[in-house]
Amino acid sequence: MTDAQGFETLAIHAGQAADAATGAVVPPIYQVSTYLQDAVGETRGGHDYSRTINPTRTALETCIASLEGAAFGSAFASGMAAADTVLRALLAPGDHVVMPNDVYGGTFRLVDKVLSRWGLDYTAVTLSDTAAVAAAVRPGSTRLIWVETPSNPLLHIADIAAIARIAHDAGSLVVVDNTFATPYLQQPLALGADVVLHSTTKYLGGHSDVVGGAVVTSDEAIAERISFHQNAMGSIPGPFDCWLVLRGIRTLAVRMERHCDNAERVVELLAGHPKVTTVLYPGLPGHLGHEIASRQMRRAGGMVSFAVAGGASAAIEVCNRASVFTLGESLGGVESLIEHPAEMTHHSTTGSEAEVPDDLIRLSVGIESIDDLLGDLRHALG
Ligand SMILES: *Cc1c(COP(=O)(O)O)cnc(C)c1O
Repeated sequence: MTDAQGFETLAIHAGQAADAATGAVVPPIYQVSTYLQDAVGETRGGHDYSRTINPTRTALETCIASLEGAAFGSAFASGMAAADTVLRALLAPGDHVVMPNDVYGGTFRLVDKVLSRWGLDYTAVTLSDTAAVAAAVRPGSTRLIWVETPSNPLLHIADIAAIARIAHDAGSLVVVDNTFATPYLQQPLALGADVVLHSTTKYLGGHSDVVGGAVVTSDEAIAERISFHQNAMGSIPGPFDCWLVLRGIRTLAVRMERHCDNAERVVELLAGHPKVTTVLYPGLPGHLGHEIASRQMRRAGGMVSFAVAGGASAAIEVCNRASVFTLGESLGGVESLIEHPAEMTHHSTTGSEAEVPDDLIRLSVGIESIDDLLGDLRHALG
């Protein structure tokens, strides 16, 4: 492959050259644990054991890295396995982390319940408030700022470039969980981030049929620590799961365009609907963070949240009445999903400062026919 290829070309070809032995145009599923050595210690291309290296996983790692403009990539069994590996590989007991107060719930649980016992300290702040981020940094002990933008489910926007400057001035690293935006819409390394993380379960896989994670970076020392931990801790994805994610990635660009097209039409309907009191979408000119989103994202994505008149019971009724929008957690698949964060994805935040409004509904807008999606929402809103 030559340099400077377009995103769509990389999604289809990076790491995915035709199989040398057969010419198969899709990387085979190397469902294998160990490899022949031609003599003691003489492996073929370093292939010794599949926890350490597997060609199907290498294809996926190469592809995701190229899409983020990164030099190195590592794939994991889940987004949480990726997060755990990043935090343990890059930090040490006693270190301090700044993270969003509306960080993905699993990430909060990992830091608050697991890594705190290992000696990690954290401060949770409103990440869209850059001054609050700066104030939370403890010179000498803050080693990492964790960024998620757009956030879940309020779709707050954090200024990646500004946070990267604050972090680097304090000798801290910046990790961006880019799951919601995908590299098609937002490229955090180009904005100054050190590491990008994905739950490939969502848009990268894109078909709600696989759980996976990935971490990319262009810093060789960081990449070495992450792949050392990937092998040492063993939280790797199997070859078939890697193959599924890679298959999803080939259509990422066209899927994301359709997710955005459909989300924009859904936002238009919601904004004009008498029962809808608030619409949260970074593409709306009135959205807090719209200006930053326009700068750092290609388009505003497929996630939309909105509130309805009548409180929690009205919101729950809308969720229950929808049918093309499937009632369910998760996001980023081809099918549209609807959920009530206060009772579902964000139930554990009840009573905490990260509690979400109970009249809020979150949509993951899929790529079905837009008329069916709009009709379903009109019906669900009654
Ligand atoms: C789903 C998700 C994760 C966790 O990923 P899993 O693949 O479910 O382990 C992390 N961050 C964000 C933003 C997510 O949406």
